[in-house]
Amino acid sequence: MSIVLHATDLTRNYEVKRGMFGKPALVRALNGVSFNLSSGKTLAVVGESGCGKSTLARLVTMIEEPSSGALTIDGKPAALTDKSLRRTVQIVFQNPYGSLNPRQKVGAILEEPLKVNTRDDAATRQEKARAMMQRVGLRPEHYDRYPHMFSGGQRQRIAIARALMLNPKILVLDEPVSALDLSIQAQVLNLLIDLQKEFGLAYLFISHDLSVVKHIADDVMVMYLGRPVESGSAETVFAAPKHPYTQALLSATPVADPTKKRERVQLEGELPSPLDIPSGCAFHPRCPIAVSKCAEAIPPERLVAGRQVACILAE
Ligand code: SF4
Ligand code: MG
Repeated sequence: MSIVLHATDLTRNYEVKRGMFGKPALVRALNGVSFNLSSGKTLAVVGESGCGKSTLARLVTMIEEPSSGALTIDGKPAALTDKSLRRTVQIVFQNPYGSLNPRQKVGAILEEPLKVNTRDDAATRQEKARAMMQRVGLRPEHYDRYPHMFSGGQRQRIAIARALMLNPKILVLDEPVSALDLSIQAQVLNLLIDLQKEFGLAYLFISHDLSVVKHIADDVMVMYLGRPVESGSAETVFAAPKHPYTQALLSATPVADPTKKRERVQLEGELPSPLDIPSGCAFHPRCPIAVSKCAEAIPPERLVAGRQVACILAE
């Protein structure tokens, strides 16, 4: 397994105005995020909305640059201007209704990336589009149909096929099944697993839903207000989460075996605004085991039982 993405201490700030006449303030959307992504593997990035997942997706897809830190993709420094490097990372969005052009037929949607980025002639483009349609479980007659004629699951198959047309090495999957019915979710996840094996793809799988993540992740990074709080192999983290936030997230997901039901950890209060990140451990106002020391300094990540945890009390 080779590392195709290497992120070191990524930080992304945005300047925003508080209120209409307010002074500019800094939103720390992402703060000191480091990880590796290997071909054929899935790293799940988990957290509530506002935790920095979408910001991370924009950095990895090279739509935006980090404020600081280093991002290496396929052995090269990430750069907005490097078109060939940008092709190696493709994204599939949550909403298969909004991400496909309603005026284009499926064939044209799949051939568009080839038209823009390659010198393939029309016949070659069509041949590649039809082959990819078959690979993702679409039928030959779908080539001439419009997106609105498909179900949500089929539309997500179209979006996945489009993302694969330029032979990327990395797919960013931004809540790819959250908008789909439960039965359809499993089908799309299984398709993603098959495609990963066949093409050796690396997945950055962004989700708030741990029951989905459990099916597909090799590694997991749980984030809270822009920082990773617990990272490690999915098996290790899910078997015995060590950070109180991960414990709370996991306790809220349904388990198949009722004898293994965890005690529900109830989080107090709302997620704070990224404009007003609490001092010290940002989780302290909601943490069920917080002590006064927690508000003093940002807890460093340290190795606890085989995974990285940013909590002073974890053991
Ligand atoms: Fe809770 Fe303190 Fe650990 Fe933060 S450092 S998760 S507040 S116990
Ligand atoms: Mg988001």
